[in-house]
Amino acid sequence: MSPEFPVEFSQTPRSLETIARELDSRGLKPTAQRLRVASVLMSAPAHMTAEQILDELRRRGSRVSKATVYNTLKALAQHGLVRQIHLDSERSVYDSTRVPHHHFHDIETGELVDIAPDEIAFSRFPQLPEGTEAAAVEVVIRIRRKRSSAGSGE
Ligand SMILES: [Zn+2]
Repeated sequence: MSPEFPVEFSQTPRSLETIARELDSRGLKPTAQRLRVASVLMSAPAHMTAEQILDELRRRGSRVSKATVYNTLKALAQHGLVRQIHLDSERSVYDSTRVPHHHFHDIETGELVDIAPDEIAFSRFPQLPEGTEAAAVEVVIRIRRKRSSAGSGE
């Protein structure tokens, strides 16, 4: 894929000014409330659920409603400012790294860890349905603690 992926992938922290500019440039008005929510997620590479973002805002003393957090995250995702990753039918994680990349998903802790795009290569790729093109290829590798096969202990 595109050679600039690794450069964009290793993103540096964003200042509040940068975040405001990014919202503006994607047609999303950078209101104070939106910036409060966006800054929690977008300041550094992060994977957070809406609940985690709400907790962090509360910890910072922000009185932002749950509805505002959810609506803001939805708007950020719709405008391509963050990525929404569906872990299962009930849980979504928001990712501040926008370029397509892969993840380890720890099924015991729920944690997501980035895998750089160039760390996975495909030797075989399915035929795409007629009239479609691949917009992104993102792999989720589900991991868990190793289970001892020796049967020692217990
Ligand atoms: Zn990620």
